[in-house]
Amino acid sequence: MNSIFLEGLKENDINKLLIAPKSDLHNHSTKGCRREWLSEKLHAQIPKPPQRLEGLAGMQTWFRTSVKPFCDGYENMLLRWEGAFAEAKRNNIKRLVMNFGTADVDLVGTVQEFKELIEGFHKTYCPDSIFEAELTYPSCRNVEEETDELDKYAESGYFKAIDICAGENVQPFEAFLPLYRKAEKYHLIKKMHVGETGTAEDVRKAVEILGLAEVHHGINASTSKETMKFLADNQIQVNVCPSSNVMLGFVKDYKTHPIKILVENGVRVTINTDDLLIFDSSIENEYLKLYMAGTLSAEQLEEIRQRGLGICK
Ligand SMILES: [Zn+2]
Repeated sequence: MNSIFLEGLKENDINKLLIAPKSDLHNHSTKGCRREWLSEKLHAQIPKPPQRLEGLAGMQTWFRTSVKPFCDGYENMLLRWEGAFAEAKRNNIKRLVMNFGTADVDLVGTVQEFKELIEGFHKTYCPDSIFEAELTYPSCRNVEEETDELDKYAESGYFKAIDICAGENVQPFEAFLPLYRKAEKYHLIKKMHVGETGTAEDVRKAVEILGLAEVHHGINASTSKETMKFLADNQIQVNVCPSSNVMLGFVKDYKTHPIKILVENGVRVTINTDDLLIFDSSIENEYLKLYMAGTLSAEQLEEIRQRGLGICK
């Protein structure tokens, strides 16, 4: 029996793809809303991004100079969070993981106040969706200080995962061990941005040293058969964000996106948006792009969709 998702891909029918239940497991909350949604709310026209953004630095510059002027400040941060949940409703995202920096949590007030705010959006827009909050730390942070402060956030039980973002190889993987050891005590799922710009060897080392269960991006694992076998054997989930990779210039195009190699080598991948407000490609479009480019078959994409929902491993 054909699922509505398979039909949507094969018929290039956006509405069918929107209806099909999906997940988004890598979503930076403050950039997780749709450009059109935010433009409408602000009565402004937030510009479309250029096709290429020249790496993480280029992305930050674009956000700071071309997007942030329309939506700066605390109230607009809340609006952008709200928009991420509105998108979950529009796109039938049944499992949503969003990451938050501790500084953003602190802006709201206590962790309890933060939780009430976020759960308000969750209940308003997509009460039937599973939502998991993830703590993310820029890789340049003082690990000792963050480790001391982790209890404050983790004690609440609201955060389900921990992540390091914003540039690889800023500190050695071992430097993050105190933070990840403490995260274990709170049963946080251990994740990290690695293998987006770093090597396959970096991916393997990060998983081994920090005991990661999931890798954000991880695309460069595709350059090593050994690393891919290691990821497959250890059932490490790799949360891939195709448009992010293409627009930042880490991958040439959709057709040659390394997700194909990862899938063919048995790596458990999911497909995600990363920063929807910047990359301007919502989740149904990420699947469609890979299908239209011939990167993966409809059936392979269906399996990935199901994995994201926890239907298949
Ligand atoms: Zn990311």
